[in-house]
Amino acid sequence: MVGLVLVSHSRKLGESVRELVLQMTSRDFPLAVASGVGENHEELGTDAVHIADVLQKLECPEGVLVLMDLGSAVLSAQTALELLDTSATKSIRLSPAPLVEGAIAAAVCAQAGGSLDEVALEAALGLAAKQQQLQGETAAEVLSAEERPLPATPAETAEFVLTVENPHGLHARPAAALVQTASRFSSSCEVSNLTSGRGPVPARSLTSLALLQVRKGDRLKIVCCGSDCHAAFGAIRELADTAFVGKSDVVLPPPPVMTFPPAGARSFPGSDGIAIGPLVMPQATELTLIDEPSGTPAEELAKLTAAMKSISDEIRRTTVRDSGKAPGSAAILEAQALILADAVLMTKLRSLLEQDRLSATRAWKTVTDQLAGQYEAMVDPYLRERAVDVRDIARRVLRQIKGGESQTRISFPSPGILFTDELLPSEATVCDPSMVLGVITAKGSATSHSAIILRTMGIPMVVGATCIGQADIGRTVALDGSTGEVWIDPDEQTIAKLKSRQEVQLQRKNRAAAARSQAAVTLDGTRIEVLANVGNVREAAAAAENGADGVGLLRTEFLFASRTQAPSEDEQVRALREIYASIAGLVIVRTLDVGADKPLAFLRQPEEHNPYLGVRGIRLSFQSPDLFLTHLRAILRSGAEHEIWVMFPMISLVDEAQQALRLLKQAHEQLREERVSHAWPVKRGVMIEVPSAALVSEQLAEDLDFFSIGTNDLTQYTMAAERGNAELAQLQDALHPAVLRLMKAVVEGAKKRNRHVSVCGDAASDPLAAAIFAGLGIRSLSVRPRRVAEIKGLFRELYLAELKAIASEAVICKDAAAVRSLIGHYIDRAATTGRDPVGSNRS
Ligand code: PEP
Ligand code: MG
Repeated sequence: MVGLVLVSHSRKLGESVRELVLQMTSRDFPLAVASGVGENHEELGTDAVHIADVLQKLECPEGVLVLMDLGSAVLSAQTALELLDTSATKSIRLSPAPLVEGAIAAAVCAQAGGSLDEVALEAALGLAAKQQQLQGETAAEVLSAEERPLPATPAETAEFVLTVENPHGLHARPAAALVQTASRFSSSCEVSNLTSGRGPVPARSLTSLALLQVRKGDRLKIVCCGSDCHAAFGAIRELADTAFVGKSDVVLPPPPVMTFPPAGARSFPGSDGIAIGPLVMPQATELTLIDEPSGTPAEELAKLTAAMKSISDEIRRTTVRDSGKAPGSAAILEAQALILADAVLMTKLRSLLEQDRLSATRAWKTVTDQLAGQYEAMVDPYLRERAVDVRDIARRVLRQIKGGESQTRISFPSPGILFTDELLPSEATVCDPSMVLGVITAKGSATSHSAIILRTMGIPMVVGATCIGQADIGRTVALDGSTGEVWIDPDEQTIAKLKSRQEVQLQRKNRAAAARSQAAVTLDGTRIEVLANVGNVREAAAAAENGADGVGLLRTEFLFASRTQAPSEDEQVRALREIYASIAGLVIVRTLDVGADKPLAFLRQPEEHNPYLGVRGIRLSFQSPDLFLTHLRAILRSGAEHEIWVMFPMISLVDEAQQALRLLKQAHEQLREERVSHAWPVKRGVMIEVPSAALVSEQLAEDLDFFSIGTNDLTQYTMAAERGNAELAQLQDALHPAVLRLMKAVVEGAKKRNRHVSVCGDAASDPLAAAIFAGLGIRSLSVRPRRVAEIKGLFRELYLAELKAIASEAVICKDAAAVRSLIGHYIDRAATTGRDPVGSNRS
């Protein structure tokens, strides 16, 4: 291990720093103090002979780093080196780092097995954290990455610089991909953030990469050194081209629906619903999870690695089981699992177990607390959120060591509202909905993993509630998860109002669930078809269970995703038929829609500056005619015994629609000649998701049977706001009048030729938007499987004539907020006044 020598004018100062360092490392850490002058070195000053003597006695074959305080201490240390043999001085380095910060940073690095170069680098960076804290980002300028010493350069080196364009920077998932890629090669790979001056750090360590705090627009330097450095360079470069550039992989929840003016103390919406009850806190269990070592370091290590492996396996099982449930969550979980395989973390753990003789639980807690703290200190709010993932993993491993308590349900003696600083994803999954009426967290956001999970469980949640604290435990609290409101000790009037709101919501939900298999007919007698968006068999089954009238959008990407080779025609037929077997009724099959945010491993695409405006959707299919023809044949064959319609994505031109139709006909003619049974004739349509297509819908309608409006992309292209870019959430509302006017144009264009129009964008799952779309003249909506019953129920309580009047006002509103307010007030009033259907006799 690399050792340290502390040179100070004051013996007391030297000893105190020594004490500090040993507390941070271990008592046997190789450190010596060369301080003071005179008898017993009690006087202030530095003595070169004494320093040389100390250096000579400290036996550290891997090198010694000397840290000095100010002025003549530096001169004395330099003189001491001159007094020593040149062979001895080769492995001694004088550090320009400040004494206290440098010593601590260097010792921690040395303890983790760092080389003399690495230890010296850590020491040099020792002041950066403090400077950053006090002076913000300018501190990075003190020591830019280019100026820092890199480890000795081996014969073979490859390096490149790239700019990160991912909206969230090098966050957990691309960083995890980088770790995995770098780990495949024997060469060492290091990454520096040239923009902030952080690094270099090993590319194989997720924790170290996180410390680079890479944000969108930052320039990264990647250096690979070693015999296979060119292969490593190629692989990382390829990864960077796809994973770090211009991609957004965070799926945001729909914008909060603010149907009531905020009345109580505001925090933020997490999961819809109202809850009223006593505020309770879960029992703190961490303390009992930590214990003293019960075996040798090797036994403690075995205990720890077994627990880590078990949690890693559990995560992987969950990932497979839940893939597709919450978009992006599988990747987040996989990144969580990578924490468990992090080599740097492992080195620190070994050191704590072997050198410091800590127990497995204490070592694990020390290391993960430190890592979570590092995430928490980050500037980027998205990266800060990842501290929760670290703490979650940390707690799960601790519980595993203590005998697998991880699956206990969160419950209380009587129902209540759970208050916690933050809710870990694994805790969210074990909330007992009959006891946990609602959840309030002091931290967190609607994009957090736990909020996503609670939404699927129907438990209301409010996040970031600063208005409430531990002192409120036991008091009555109310929350509305759709608006983010929280009331502490609400008065009777407020409780009555909330209870009636809750009652209305509950009754509406129950009515909708009970009537889910019935048609959705408005109070004035118009049927609204409610179909579902489906991307795999599980979602098709959920759609059927929730009463969907069929599938309005089958995303066929599931046939191709995660494959290294294109699936065969027969494979595609089989997979499509499995979907049809899970749900009765019409299935609208959309042809492959990849490119931009959905790359295909086996279909290489040249790098594009702006992939959302590039070769995606139908444009990509035209570039791969063989793949496309096989796909079309499979779709037609799959529909031989089930009603299917075929739909093409991302159409911008009438010519494109015609070309797609020609290829579909070619697939049909081939199958006919081969005497293979298939669906023909089929209804043929296109997605309307590009403004140009919306505006020429009348001309498009000539050759087609139907349109389906994709509001996700239509909104993105109309508002010039990339979907999924969290910073542009305000611009991504499909209720913006500009988007509504384009939708109106589509309805009018289709009407001229009596064509079917539906909406399959995510906005159709939002009750306010669904109501407006119906008012615009759309009679078919395709929604998320679990929203089907609710959307059907909504229309049963509304008059279409009134929706038409509201929609005609909505298209001339100034913005989406005005439209939301208009329709929100109407729906609230409708829900509380309980109107009768036209022609009924109810009084
Ligand atoms: C859309 O763009 O609205 C749509 C439904 O297509 P996707 O979300 O699959 O791009
Ligand atoms: Mg789309």
